[in-house]
Amino acid sequence: MSRAPLLPAVKAETTLGVLGGGQLGRMFVHAAQQMGYFTAVLDPDPSSPAGRVSHHHIQTDYLDPQGLAELARLCVAVTTEFENVPAQALAQLAATRPVAPAASAVAIAQDRAREKAHFVACGVPCAPYAVIDTAEQLAAVDEALLPGILKTARLGYDGKGQVRVKTREELNAAWAGLKQVPCVLEKMLPLASECSVIVARGADGAMVNFPVQRNLHREGILAVTEVYEGNLPAAVAEQAVAAAKSVATGLGYVGVLCVEFFVLTDGSLVVNEIAPRPHNSGHYTLDGCDLSQFDLQVRAMVGLPLVQPRLHSPSILLNLLGDLWFAPGSDEAVTPPWDQVLALPGTHLHLYGKLEAKRARKMGHLNITGATPEAVRAVALQAAALLGLEPF
Ligand code: ATP
Ligand code: MG
Repeated sequence: MSRAPLLPAVKAETTLGVLGGGQLGRMFVHAAQQMGYFTAVLDPDPSSPAGRVSHHHIQTDYLDPQGLAELARLCVAVTTEFENVPAQALAQLAATRPVAPAASAVAIAQDRAREKAHFVACGVPCAPYAVIDTAEQLAAVDEALLPGILKTARLGYDGKGQVRVKTREELNAAWAGLKQVPCVLEKMLPLASECSVIVARGADGAMVNFPVQRNLHREGILAVTEVYEGNLPAAVAEQAVAAAKSVATGLGYVGVLCVEFFVLTDGSLVVNEIAPRPHNSGHYTLDGCDLSQFDLQVRAMVGLPLVQPRLHSPSILLNLLGDLWFAPGSDEAVTPPWDQVLALPGTHLHLYGKLEAKRARKMGHLNITGATPEAVRAVALQAAALLGLEPF
């Protein structure tokens, strides 16, 4: 379906909507406003990071019919920042407004079993797995999947809803512990590293991509992303981009999509999961690329041209979790040494305006850009040391 792009109007508000008011919504709002759009955020939390910076903030539940009707009334197009938004909410909005990504794509990303079936259908290898919906399926699990990770099919993030299991007994106990909700059991793979690729695809099928991001996770949460020539073997990077594009094409996807991968110790590449939205590992694009992932989210949803983004500086992202606001080993509140961090060249501090720091909560990120991979790594390691983060 081709349609005229939805550009901001003069003498009238042209408003773009986003479901979800977290930091991804906030950065979407910033990008949309930079282009002259007004914004509307739907999120029940009165102090949500995106709601606080948006022209309109509808404070209802995601399935509230009046909240959704108000969003549709205000907005010329709607996107999401949050994959656990009920797919029905997107479907309801799509009856009257362009919605990107579509409910059907979000529904697949919400469910690990459907997601894996999609990878198989696209011919992109993923970890060997079994779907566990019933006690019979649990009993029939192939021993070859152990040791493995039992993951809830729905609603997991940052390693939540996951249990590592070595034996059949541990697997049985873990499923009981997860209240016997639908799960997938994945074989534990020997990881050499992790990476992700972010693509943006338009309604006309045009697709562009950011370079491959090398990601380091700690305790199941993204800690560091490094992006520069040579961050991964060239053949792996090429394969990852091709795989991400086939996953997006297979979904008929419109919008920004992130595909996460494992690189195994034998050098092979395995897809992990997708996020139907901009991704934490793409926040470096705000400072390291000539277009950010949020710029492309705006363009894709309104039908403006998608241009291949260019990484103009080797970049490293350090995630800033709430732990940094506590003195080591105590509950005493502290302020991280921003003055020292910002004295380092090429540092860009992004804080999400969250009013309470909690351990493991994503409070912000620090982007570091430099002239060379060596230079950016040297500064990033200094910043990490100042913040008390482990070297990488
Ligand atoms: P996210 O916040 O990215 O949505 P999540 O909670 O959905 O995270 P996963 O991405 O499935 O979780 O897993 C979190 C991390 O656990 C991975 O980044 C990886 O480090 C590790 N992991 C997950 N599955 C496997 C596996 N099959 N083999 C080895 N390690 C794994
Ligand atoms: Mg993940």
